[in-house]
Amino acid sequence: MTTQRLWGRAFVGGSIRERTLITIEDGQIGEIREFAQAPADATRIADLIVPGLIDIHVHGGDGADFMDGADEAVGRVSSFHARNGTTTMAATTLSGSRSDLRSAVMSIARASKSARQSAEICAIHPEGPYISTKRAGAQSVESIRPADIQEIGALINEAPHLRFIITVAPEIEGVRALIEHFRKQIVFSIGHTAADYSDAVAALEWGASHFTHLFNAMTGMHHREPGVVGAALVSAAATAELIADGIHVHPAVLRVATLAMPNRIALVTDAVRAAGMPRGKYKLYDHEFTVTESGGARLGNGTLAGSTLTMQRAVQNMVELAGLPIELVLPLATEVPARILGIGDRKGRIAAGYDADLVVLTAKFDVSRVFVRGRELR
Ligand SMILES: [Zn+2]
Repeated sequence: MTTQRLWGRAFVGGSIRERTLITIEDGQIGEIREFAQAPADATRIADLIVPGLIDIHVHGGDGADFMDGADEAVGRVSSFHARNGTTTMAATTLSGSRSDLRSAVMSIARASKSARQSAEICAIHPEGPYISTKRAGAQSVESIRPADIQEIGALINEAPHLRFIITVAPEIEGVRALIEHFRKQIVFSIGHTAADYSDAVAALEWGASHFTHLFNAMTGMHHREPGVVGAALVSAAATAELIADGIHVHPAVLRVATLAMPNRIALVTDAVRAAGMPRGKYKLYDHEFTVTESGGARLGNGTLAGSTLTMQRAVQNMVELAGLPIELVLPLATEVPARILGIGDRKGRIAAGYDADLVVLTAKFDVSRVFVRGRELR
């Protein structure tokens, strides 16, 4: 049995605790207790120890995209985001042809099994193709199609060890049947949709439980037509993603949504291959986009094409731009996304019996150390 001990400030049980001794045994967290001074065998950590960050919506980074359908690309994306604090992710695909989507899922499934210095892929998030052409954003409109139970069944068979979260538009043909068929097995997320408030409420009744990048690519909230955004805000249990890059959603709205949906927001990056790369032109499936000085990724017509965000930066923006306390922000990048993926019993918290996925953040929110199941990334 390998044992390591870390001593320092840590985010445990919803608050920051000083002089905390964390024991890691065989990749899992063992005992956690207050200890006046660092024991001789413990590593003293000067910065803040937080649970590993969990990104349930990420397409790429470091020049690679999950839609590339290549094992090497999967490795690049997961290594890049791990260096930026993400220890667990849902590899996210786009609307693509049947064969491209299948090969993307196959490469994710294969690469997720091999141990390497990277974030753990626990889930696949097909974002489309059963979405609205009217709210396609930067997705391939030609690839959008009616929902197909057989197609999803086949994708699940390619990756039986991974969980699925699927973004769908409730108004698309076959989506109701798809949700009702797989509701016990798959997390359905409402997104890229032109639906109104009542359509979105109906989709929650069919079994959807999540909203993809709240505010982006959906109907907004008007006081006489609350839209999809209104349905998310008033729903009792549904969760929603926020892209906290300061571009997709105004910081004031990040703040309002977070306060209105306590414990129901998951920060996501929606990062594309340009994340971690210089300014310039890149590919998003069949579209070309440009990354500008501000870090925004846009198609030629100005449509946002994902982000260049990292989870570390999302946390930082929620504190520095949206003005929220770190104790409130950290669970949105850890505990809530773990719960959404159904892995809240082993990830998302620093607690005994949990996987030793730990990130050390400096006072400026830089990632100084990353541990995935107790193994430190170098
Ligand atoms: Zn996306």
